[in-house]
Amino acid sequence: MRTPTGTLCIDHAARNNLRDVTVDVPLGCLVAITGVAGAGKTSLLACLPRNEKVAVLDQTPIRGSRRSSPATYSGALDDIRAEFAAANNVKANLFSPNSAGACANCAGLGVTFTPTPLGDDVTATCASCQGARFQQEALSHTLRKKTIADVLDMAIETAAGFFSDSPAADILNRLTDVGIGYIHLGQPLTDLSGGERQRRRLAIEMGRQAPVYVLDEPTNGLHLADVDNLVGVCESLIEGGASVIVADHHRDLIARSDWVIDLGHDAGHDGGSVVFEGTPADLTRAKTHTGRALRASHA
Ligand SMILES: [Zn+2]
Repeated sequence: MRTPTGTLCIDHAARNNLRDVTVDVPLGCLVAITGVAGAGKTSLLACLPRNEKVAVLDQTPIRGSRRSSPATYSGALDDIRAEFAAANNVKANLFSPNSAGACANCAGLGVTFTPTPLGDDVTATCASCQGARFQQEALSHTLRKKTIADVLDMAIETAAGFFSDSPAADILNRLTDVGIGYIHLGQPLTDLSGGERQRRRLAIEMGRQAPVYVLDEPTNGLHLADVDNLVGVCESLIEGGASVIVADHHRDLIARSDWVIDLGHDAGHDGGSVVFEGTPADLTRAKTHTGRALRASHA
């Protein structure tokens, strides 16, 4: 395991079903909080100190709408709009489909809704802008031969190259690093899967350079290759001096962590205690549910 750079102490935690839990969480490592569902993993995460040094990525859903895309949410689009404005000597809000740049027919949504007698709206691509969301004047301006609509149609990894000299490059590169570079810049957040949303948030939080990252069930809905990718991102954060604390049940993630704090033995009233602390190798010999599952996956 990596050598810890310090410890975070959880002292006499009694939230929800936790039974007076006192435990040291090593820093500068990948720490997995494990246990069956209901054993108290999320409660234990909630007992970690919360301050500006701790970035918590819990399962709170993103309040997204058709108008919020990966670019708008992470601020990259502000930088991109400013660049278009400077290159064309016009106001930046002309390049926002939620502002002066909006197509008048669809109010910048790119689609129109027609009510039917049965109550369901029929959605159609806007006949005026053909889904581009912008009015004509906005589309008459270009930046290095691309219109703002062309840019929003770019995959994030393509945009990272196009804007490599721009302040937007930072977040675009991070979004690519966490494995969602294939998402289009203008794609609504509501189209993203749970895993894509959590990795997008991780990319944004990475920009804050918080020393401690806390993730709650980040492997939910991820394919095996994506789990691998996620652990890789965690490891590079740790190499950069950060700590990553993850409540999760994925065997690959547990096996690659430096330290495991296993809660149990079971759920609810039968949970809430630390039943194991140590390395994943030692966990395979422990008589806990997680230990048995890890041992089975190695057999
Ligand atoms: Zn339109």
